[in-house]
Amino acid sequence: MAQNGTTEIRQNSVPKMAANGFVSKEKSVKTSSEPGGTARFPAEEERFLRDLFEMILKDAVKDSLNPNSKVVNFKHPQELTSLLDLEIDHKRTSNEELIKLSREIIKYSVKSGHPHFFNQLYGGFDTYGLAGAWLTDALNTSQYTFEVAPVFTLMEKTVLGKMGRLAGFNDGDGIFCPGGSVSNMYAINLARFKKFPSVKTDGMAGLPKMCIITSEEGHYSMKKMAATLGMGMNSIIPVQCDDQGRMKVDKVEEAIKTAQKNGMVPIMVNVTSGTTVLGAYDPLDAIATVCKKHGIWVHCDGAWGAGCLLSKNLKHLMKGIEKADSLTWNPHKMMGSPLQTCAFLTQHKNLLAECHSAKAKYLFQQDKFYDVSYDTGDKSIQCGRKVDVLKLWMMWKAKGDNEFARDIENIFDCARYLTEKLKKTEGFRLVLQKPECTNVGFWYIPPSLRGQKETKEWWDKVSKVAPAIKRLMTEQGTLLVGYQPDREWVNFFRMVISNTATTHQEMDFVVTEIDRLGRSL
Ligand SMILES: *Cc1c(COP(=O)(O)O)cnc(C)c1O
Repeated sequence: MAQNGTTEIRQNSVPKMAANGFVSKEKSVKTSSEPGGTARFPAEEERFLRDLFEMILKDAVKDSLNPNSKVVNFKHPQELTSLLDLEIDHKRTSNEELIKLSREIIKYSVKSGHPHFFNQLYGGFDTYGLAGAWLTDALNTSQYTFEVAPVFTLMEKTVLGKMGRLAGFNDGDGIFCPGGSVSNMYAINLARFKKFPSVKTDGMAGLPKMCIITSEEGHYSMKKMAATLGMGMNSIIPVQCDDQGRMKVDKVEEAIKTAQKNGMVPIMVNVTSGTTVLGAYDPLDAIATVCKKHGIWVHCDGAWGAGCLLSKNLKHLMKGIEKADSLTWNPHKMMGSPLQTCAFLTQHKNLLAECHSAKAKYLFQQDKFYDVSYDTGDKSIQCGRKVDVLKLWMMWKAKGDNEFARDIENIFDCARYLTEKLKKTEGFRLVLQKPECTNVGFWYIPPSLRGQKETKEWWDKVSKVAPAIKRLMTEQGTLLVGYQPDREWVNFFRMVISNTATTHQEMDFVVTEIDRLGRSL
């Protein structure tokens, strides 16, 4: 961006620009003498940003918040390839052309802020989150040292401290990292290092076989990360769940004992708070008590469900969280912060640094003129690290705790409303009668399949309903809801509410729209 000399020119030129109008269309060249421009930031580029900004506000934000607009304008890959000019060649592209292309990008992109987007565990639109994202990118720095990220170092400390205290981690540590999967990897790596510190320098050779105990409904990142960390996917031991999808406490203890009998060392039990499909909250308190008895690290994967900690009325779902050693919490899911905002938190104050530091001399010099304990980057497994905290900070600062809590309570209320509505509506059948989180799983039974004997063949037919309706909703662009099989259940819809602006009206829409699309099947 502008350096010292040019900043002055910019400030001086502001009144002139205002007089000319910021979005003037007159042609300009790249010179410092251009009214309103500087050598480093020509007026033409400023105009480009302003025009693009106006266009984004209209096409990507306002239009996509209109429930009558399309959530998606679906094209198959070949068709989309021919519709979009994505190839890059040797010539420059004009600003006008880039704005035109940006319009197309928006046109064919999924509108995750749309009130009818329920496809995954993120979505919704937050003005302050977007403002935070834009400011982050305008300042474009890396989070590793106080030297280049003074404000963001302090901001990260503040926000992680606040999140930690909500979990009852009163004197812990944490880091924002790229995704819940990576947060879960941090947990495994810390748990393993705590048990076998030599793993950092000498690797796995010579260490006993280790395992990780998790729920059969737990997130697949556990497997991926066990493979990544050289433990192998087979080191993940799945534990049976009850009929609500919650890990059974006695089965956890049984798994620990069996593993030990087979010569393995269980290094971690992963407790999920808000499973990805069913939204189950594992009995954290009881499992943590079992783990403490056996000296095993308790990790809570709250990537999806930890947002409940904001509400006094909902935090009981994670009772016992203060006994956990670590927590994965993705504010970009339930709290509606823009992608990606993922926190890893731990109660062990110095462990992140001990486990991950490599003390690069060119970056983390110990003889700097300021307090180098504020250079927090060596806690990370990365070098450069995107600033993720400002999006969340801006939202949280704007709303305050009380409104944020009400937002979370609202989506739980919408899920309860939808559940009750589905119970009463012909053609719908719930997977769980009393979902704990905002996931509401259900089958739609088209009129042609109603009132029949529920044989294996009948369920086979039901399994084809959700994919067929999903195709229709995507092609028509009216709604996006995910589906999957799970446990002994054939394909069912998973309505999942993370958009905090959701109201009962959208819940009604989901029911009538799925009925409309599925009626003729
Ligand atoms: C989404 C999710 C993850 C993974 O988070 P990403 O940010 O997508 O990597 C992990 N655990 C659970 C329970 C999740 O729902």
